[in-house]
Amino acid sequence: MEDKVCIFWFRRDLRLEDNTALYHALKSGKPVIPIFIFDQEILQGLDRKDARVSFIHHRLEHISKTLKENFESSLAVYLGMPVSIFKQLIEKYSVEAVYTNRDYEPYALDRDASISKLLSDNSVDLKTYKDQVIFETDEVTKQDGKPYLVYTPYQKRWRQLFNRDEDLRTYNSEELGQNFINNTQLPWLSLADIGFKYSEIEVPDYHLNEELVEQYATTRDFPAKRKGTSRLGPHLRFGTISIRNITKQALKAEDDTFLKELIWREFFMQILWHFPHTIHKAFKPAYDRIKWRNKQEEFEAWKEGRTGYALVDAGMRELDTTGYMHNRVRMLVASFLCKHLLIDWRWGEAYFAAKLLDFELSSNVGNWQWAAGCGVDAAPYFRIFNPMTQAVKFDKMNQYIAHWVPEFDSGHYVAPIVDHKMARERCLKVFKEALDA
Ligand code: FAD
Repeated sequence: MEDKVCIFWFRRDLRLEDNTALYHALKSGKPVIPIFIFDQEILQGLDRKDARVSFIHHRLEHISKTLKENFESSLAVYLGMPVSIFKQLIEKYSVEAVYTNRDYEPYALDRDASISKLLSDNSVDLKTYKDQVIFETDEVTKQDGKPYLVYTPYQKRWRQLFNRDEDLRTYNSEELGQNFINNTQLPWLSLADIGFKYSEIEVPDYHLNEELVEQYATTRDFPAKRKGTSRLGPHLRFGTISIRNITKQALKAEDDTFLKELIWREFFMQILWHFPHTIHKAFKPAYDRIKWRNKQEEFEAWKEGRTGYALVDAGMRELDTTGYMHNRVRMLVASFLCKHLLIDWRWGEAYFAAKLLDFELSSNVGNWQWAAGCGVDAAPYFRIFNPMTQAVKFDKMNQYIAHWVPEFDSGHYVAPIVDHKMARERCLKVFKEALDA
């Protein structure tokens, strides 16, 4: 009988260090075949130059190179539907178990359920682990087991339950590398092989140190400040750093503002897990009665940064050019789309999903619903950001605007596509009508 192997399946945990499921796979005593699958279904909806695909591929190259140089191993990369790939793998190898870290998005849950069935029908164990969060699914709930719908009590409970020793345990997967299978010739695919091209947009490194965390409360609101926030988004999304490591660093500072942002991420993840319908529907159903205007030409102007409101336009141009937009500005452009232009938050959410390097379904839907007023713990509908006042408050010296909208002061800048005062009143009327109906 052929020797048994284990498979470790990389998904949104693209690192060899402190990787929970990888650690357990390497401890299993069987040679471990590390794999990554480019999922045809996900790829088909993406632009051929999608920067996130370039980033993933780049990370896979790095992992494979490390495996070759240090452990006489390599990474197997496939393209297809994950279920079909697993059918092939269990025919080819005598697989004892498949190890992977849990993924909580609705598509991933369905996919994993079908793979779990395939494996169990073939007497192969599927072993899954918590890795991308400190608390998952329904680990933080109210006393009666119901989910928290408001962030502050969720955050308090999160902290009560948090146990530094247990929850921040390090899984030294990188020290067990000799247990990878000895094979430097596992199947590999270039970016062209999967039908993609390199993007000019690169994911920048994150920056996180004690100083940033300590000063975060005062620096995080100013989009012109290059290092005012951590730029961790894509790294948390694709797991190029472990959340346990980041949380340890967050805890080194006395100020807890940064930690609270990490908890927002988990708050929205549990909301999506409990209420997956919020991807398409407002959490507060009355908001689905709003009569959106949905004017295509206004949507185009918003996307292209031609609304005539400088901070809005600066943000949209930053997003288009870099795949990033500062949080302050995200809040403003989202509010502007839903409230000033009365365009359905789902349109904005989809546009962000296509463009953001740090796109995370739970955070994107959660924050868009927050901005539109229709989500859990959302901004009240009558709170309508004034784009001019926001610019004065958060870009006092006009640095951010000057960078992204250089024509702003030149006399050639476009006129506002909508009058602020009129738009504000129109929004209040339309929202009120829907909510009172
Ligand atoms: P930092 O300020 O350094 O924060 C550190 C980390 O905390 C972030 O990387 C993120 O993981 C988490 N975090 C911070 N703020 C939030 C928040 N409000 N909600 C959830 N997590 C948070 N964040 C995403 O990760 N993916 C998205 O798709 C996304 N879409 C958004 C859409 C809108 C309309 C708005 C208003 C916000 C959105 N955010 C999203 C939240 C936030 O803007 C980004 O997480 C943040 O700007 C990323 O930059 P950073 O890594 O420098 O963040």
